[in-house]
Amino acid sequence: MEIHPSTRQGWSNELTTITHSFDLEARHMVEEQLRRRGIHDERVLEAMRVIPRHKFVPTESVGAAYEDRPLPIGTHETISQPYIVALMTEAARAAPGEHALEIGGGCGYQAAILAHLGATVCAVERNTQLAEESRERLERLGYGNIEVFDGDGSDGLAERAPYNVIIVSAATPSISPVMLSQLAEGGRLVAPVGSLRQQELLLVCRQGERITTRSLGACQFVPLIGKGGWKQEEVGPKN
Ligand code: SAH
Repeated sequence: MEIHPSTRQGWSNELTTITHSFDLEARHMVEEQLRRRGIHDERVLEAMRVIPRHKFVPTESVGAAYEDRPLPIGTHETISQPYIVALMTEAARAAPGEHALEIGGGCGYQAAILAHLGATVCAVERNTQLAEESRERLERLGYGNIEVFDGDGSDGLAERAPYNVIIVSAATPSISPVMLSQLAEGGRLVAPVGSLRQQELLLVCRQGERITTRSLGACQFVPLIGKGGWKQEEVGPKN
């Protein structure tokens, strides 16, 4: 049972009250942070309402789980702000039965959203501890359609390619051509591309030989570290 003093209704021994409080917070998040800012896909809004975001954050952040900001999930890692997760998910248009890849799986939240939309998901996470924790968490929550891989996903994950959807959840200086080649016909890739400080969220679509790119706006993500991203030394010793 998750109990945290800063849930809106304060302390309670009633599980129903606590659950109700998170449910209210999730509904409020959907209306105020997502719908009002232009997220219209009802499937995405419903996924964001029902996936228990508070079960993906560390205990000390449970009370802030539905707030309008990213939250720390490990040494330097974060769970993305709800709006950014919704924006990426809406742009990626994952449909039931499609195959999706997430690079930078973190706590598993974005992967759970994609799975809720009916996709089979592969998530790659370079931080072994986070990968292990998210694997356990997703299993506990009953997501049989997500596989979590440890390691450098900056060049995608060739062994399960092609993908209808690729979501890169960490900032990258460019989109790796190797990763792009793993996008299926009609596939959509969403990635924050730019410098370490600031990026532009790009939607890349493949139609035959034609690749189109559209900007979804400015954003800030933690860096993608690896072969197709930044070198560890460029980012700092502790990331
Ligand atoms: N979508 C995630 C956000 C995680 S933050 C969530 O819902 O929690 C970005 C993650 O990318 C971090 O956990 C970081 O460890 C991971 N990462 C950075 N470089 C990576 C790489 N080359 N391959 C896989 N994961 C990487």
